[in-house]
Amino acid sequence: MTMTPATPKGRVHLVGAGPGDPDLLTLRAARLLEGASLVVHDGLVDTAILAMVNPAAERISVAKARSRHTMQQEDINALLVREALAGRDVVRLKGGDPFVFGRGGEEAEACRAAGIEVEVVPGISSALGASAAAQIPLTHRDHASIVSFVAGQCKGLTEQDWSGLAGKGRTLVIFMGLATAAQISEKLMADGLAPDVPVAVIENATRAQMRVLRSPLAGLEALVSSHRVKSPALIVIGDVARARGDLADHTIRALALEAGK
Ligand code: SAH
Repeated sequence: MTMTPATPKGRVHLVGAGPGDPDLLTLRAARLLEGASLVVHDGLVDTAILAMVNPAAERISVAKARSRHTMQQEDINALLVREALAGRDVVRLKGGDPFVFGRGGEEAEACRAAGIEVEVVPGISSALGASAAAQIPLTHRDHASIVSFVAGQCKGLTEQDWSGLAGKGRTLVIFMGLATAAQISEKLMADGLAPDVPVAVIENATRAQMRVLRSPLAGLEALVSSHRVKSPALIVIGDVARARGDLADHTIRALALEAGK
């Protein structure tokens, strides 16, 4: 029996582009970009990283903005599947890590459902890149031993149960929280968080225009609006978000108290 061989399927590589600085790409990501023939990327991916893509490769932007969807998620999934079925290897480049609020899980599922092989290349999530760049340790023996990542803009923010995620000994990192900053601080204070809990807002982490702004929790919305903070930005809530000098002072005070016991 003779069978016409089917077109060999391409693979889909879901690749994390990190928080912005091209030096924070993994070697695997850099190699895939250099050898790519088709790159499908988000709006979040820095232009300096796009400059590393093989010049002969086709580049498709599927930028999404909060209120201005250029391409729906279903269309992105369909695009990846269509190209891979046509035999092309697809590098799907996503900001930060593909599996942290990046809908990478949905894209991987859509590809696997179509019988397409998927490779996932982790990236430095902006939560990690931003905390490193701002020198805010997400955990610290004296200040926090639990860290949580939440989405500030999601289905039914008010119904989301964040109780216990912020407060003493805990660090809360909020993605996509600028537009809902007022609801976020109200929600956390309603859950019992003190209005003076330290907050840091990190805008454009690891990029040249990076800003780190601080305020107590009650002033979060005022901070975001008075400094005209723009996306992308992360909100870090907890003792670790105190300014570095203060954090050190605080640690020294705690040590002195302990020593005096
Ligand atoms: N997968 C990404 C997150 C995608 S959701 C990751 O792992 O980082 C998009 C959100 O990520 C933005 O709204 C913002 O909250 C955050 N973000 C991404 N890049 C950032 C950057 N360079 N600086 C600050 N926040 C960033």
